Amino acid sequence: MSRKNIAAGNWKMNKNYEDGLTLARNLLVHSKASEALMILAPPFIHLQGVAEIIKGQAHIHLAAQNCHQKASGAYTGETSLEMLKSVGVTYVILGHSERREYFEESNELLAEKTNAVLESGLTPIFCCGENLTIREAKKHIAHVSDQLRSSLFHLSAEDFGKIVIAYEPIWAIGTGVTASPEQAQDMHQAIRKLIADQYSSEVANATSILYGGSVKPANAVELFSQADVDGGLVGGASLKAEDFCKIYESFNTLS
Ligand code: PEP
Repeated sequence: MSRKNIAAGNWKMNKNYEDGLTLARNLLVHSKASEALMILAPPFIHLQGVAEIIKGQAHIHLAAQNCHQKASGAYTGETSLEMLKSVGVTYVILGHSERREYFEESNELLAEKTNAVLESGLTPIFCCGENLTIREAKKHIAHVSDQLRSSLFHLSAEDFGKIVIAYEPIWAIGTGVTASPEQAQDMHQAIRKLIADQYSSEVANATSILYGGSVKPANAVELFSQADVDGGLVGGASLKAEDFCKIYESFNTLS
């Protein structure tokens, strides 16, 4: 996948079915299609309904918030990649900090999930990021580097080239505190350098690296205008069509 501007909305465990479909319809009506991608990650049970609403819209894509790493079988309550594909999902968010923290997803498990997503032909949106203690100890770059090394750097350059990275400092998620544009740029630059050192500058320059953590219409332009920030993974502000459309359209104001 070549480097793209992306606004991805992670609805998490919000919205009942009808409200979710209404949000998807409003996004469709109010967003002006552009080169940038809009990716919607609703809860599992909304996926098929949202897929029908966005059908034929080349700029809007569907993501799952998680998947199981096994192809099928006795895994009660889980959702396979084949199921996700069969309703039109093309991206899968992996390693969100909430899954790492509340569901104990380790770097090793995320390496398995990454392999499974790539084998199924879907695109992982791989989340990484540090908590406040790590940031204050100035170990954030080492921490994120370790997450990427442990879960992704076994991949061939060709497979790594299919991944979207989302840097999400945990202290900025759902807190209203946003990383400053400089903090975001510093980390994104460090991630891109790490990829260049591991693979090549061609692979690094072709990788989309999203920022996540209290992105809002008021700060999207400044964040997205940083040289190594290719867009955002958005939680709270993706639940309001007007706000998420503004975030998506903020790419149009970048030079
Ligand atoms: C997220 O959960 O991925 C996220 C970035 O949330 P918020 O935008 O609400 O901080």
